[in-house]
Amino acid sequence: MTSIHFPPPARRGKMPAMFAGHGSPMNAIVPNPFSETLAQLGLQFGASLPKPQAVLVISAHQLTRGTFISTAAKPETVHDFGGFPEALFQVQYPAKGSPETARRIQSHVEHFKIQPDTAMGMDHGAWAVLMHLFPNADVPVLQLSLDTALAPQQHFALAKALRFLRDEGVMILGSGNIVHNLRRANFASPDAPPHDWAKAFDEQVKTLLMNGNADTLASFDTLGEAAKLSVPTSEHYLPMLYVIAQQLPDDHLTFFNEAFQHAAISMRSFLLT
Ligand code: ZN
Repeated sequence: MTSIHFPPPARRGKMPAMFAGHGSPMNAIVPNPFSETLAQLGLQFGASLPKPQAVLVISAHQLTRGTFISTAAKPETVHDFGGFPEALFQVQYPAKGSPETARRIQSHVEHFKIQPDTAMGMDHGAWAVLMHLFPNADVPVLQLSLDTALAPQQHFALAKALRFLRDEGVMILGSGNIVHNLRRANFASPDAPPHDWAKAFDEQVKTLLMNGNADTLASFDTLGEAAKLSVPTSEHYLPMLYVIAQQLPDDHLTFFNEAFQHAAISMRSFLLT
């Protein structure tokens, strides 16, 4: 586990964008280095980093046909999992929504139809990260769903259309996992060392991110066997594309939580400032 080196101050007027590896839902309530790092990073918002006016979350756990955006004034905390301790079902994250930001996004984004959804709540990909990052739930939250009919390149194009948000005080938070293969996960041991293919793909993605090679990252299905094992289904990988689409040429890229859970889930996270 490497601890975060705090990112340099954000460029004037530009909101950071973040990808968070969320891993097990238990990370919400079991203290560990992953959640501690998120909490430390959260303290930087309003200090060395600007405090967002709202957070737009793109989560692995909000899959739809068509693209939807949450317009609830008070989004529900959704416990979208089974087989976990009761304490996890008790978690509430009472952040407000931001229907006005949703409307702004709907009116600004061309070429993609984004439909309002007043019933969409916050899935655990959102709240299990946000409750560490902004424990006071004082930043409004809205979510954009992942349209299962879009190709990765189309997700990337849609994500690029959201770039204006960095100038308008809205932080884009992608929540998923770069490597996520539950069939190959060692559930008995959260700290089990990663499979060779998992480590190899995670390193390859790190290099591609550092080189700003977004086209190759969007074409992950061409990257060979380690990629196939690491991304057996794309929903946990795609939120990362929404974050790298925000990258500007002179952005700083800061990695954190560079480690694995259960041998087959990469917790690698990063911040663009
Ligand atoms: Zn997940």
